[in-house]
Amino acid sequence: MSLVEEAAKIIAESKYLIAFTGAGISAESGIPTFRDPGGIWDQFDPTEVGTTGGFLGMISRNPGRIRDFLKQTMDTFEKADPNPGHKGLVELEKMGILKSVVTQNIDDLHGMAGNSRVFEVHGNLYRHRCMSCGRTEKSTRDELIAKTRAALEVEPFDIKTLAAEIFRKCTCGGMMRIDVVMFGEPVQEMAESYHEASQCDVVLILGTSGVVYPAAGVPVEARRKGAKAIEINPTTNAFQGITDVYIKAKSGEAMPQVVDMVRELR
Ligand code: NAD
Repeated sequence: MSLVEEAAKIIAESKYLIAFTGAGISAESGIPTFRDPGGIWDQFDPTEVGTTGGFLGMISRNPGRIRDFLKQTMDTFEKADPNPGHKGLVELEKMGILKSVVTQNIDDLHGMAGNSRVFEVHGNLYRHRCMSCGRTEKSTRDELIAKTRAALEVEPFDIKTLAAEIFRKCTCGGMMRIDVVMFGEPVQEMAESYHEASQCDVVLILGTSGVVYPAAGVPVEARRKGAKAIEINPTTNAFQGITDVYIKAKSGEAMPQVVDMVRELR
């Protein structure tokens, strides 16, 4: 039996499948991962632009660099659409097998693809959250990118204009910020994610190096509660100690094959 067949059999027999995804599932949509070569992260250190202190420090020291970073980020995210990896998860949900997706990604591609229960432990780039009352407000990708781009193109560049565009005033009077979790900040929807992990009988792990905790504990918790684990990753079996089936492939290439086979087996 091939690895794809083995994975499909486990999935077809599953009563409660969850997916745990990371940056790698969106690589084929054109969004570079943190740890693979190429793209924006070769020019910008994620631990610098990905921390509130680092980001604010760079704003005061080198606003031009922040402008370059945001321009490249907007260019990259604007063009990214769900790929066959994301779409495969939607197919599994439609078949009634996949119950939820726990993702570390902030790119909204699972939601855009059509999955209905998505837990975004590191937030969502197209959502604002009030720093006073916690209320959230979702934008469309086009709206948020258009506003940010307009502010980035003002000459001479003025960081205050940019801040006024991308930060919003909440109805409570507080300040809303883009709802992404920076390094060192508390993760979101973790209780729900661990609950999903404890409910599931199979966890499908796609495109993550499994080094960012506490998110990476989700498949480990699933395994601890007795679930089977399937991992798809072209370079590494990151969850080697707990995987039943490891498919060394890109998720956008392997997922359509797995889904087709699941359909045959149902
Ligand atoms: P990571 O960068 O640490 O690891 C990515 C993993 O994906 C690697 O193991 C790599 O081998 C694998 N991969 C690369 N191409 C793949 C493909 N086509 N199919 C399947 N797997 C592939 O990513 P991480 O584990 O998610 O941790 C990084 C953190 O960075 C996360 O917390 C995430 O929030 C954030 N991040 C998010 C995005 C996004 O929203 N798309 C992009 C970059 C980073």
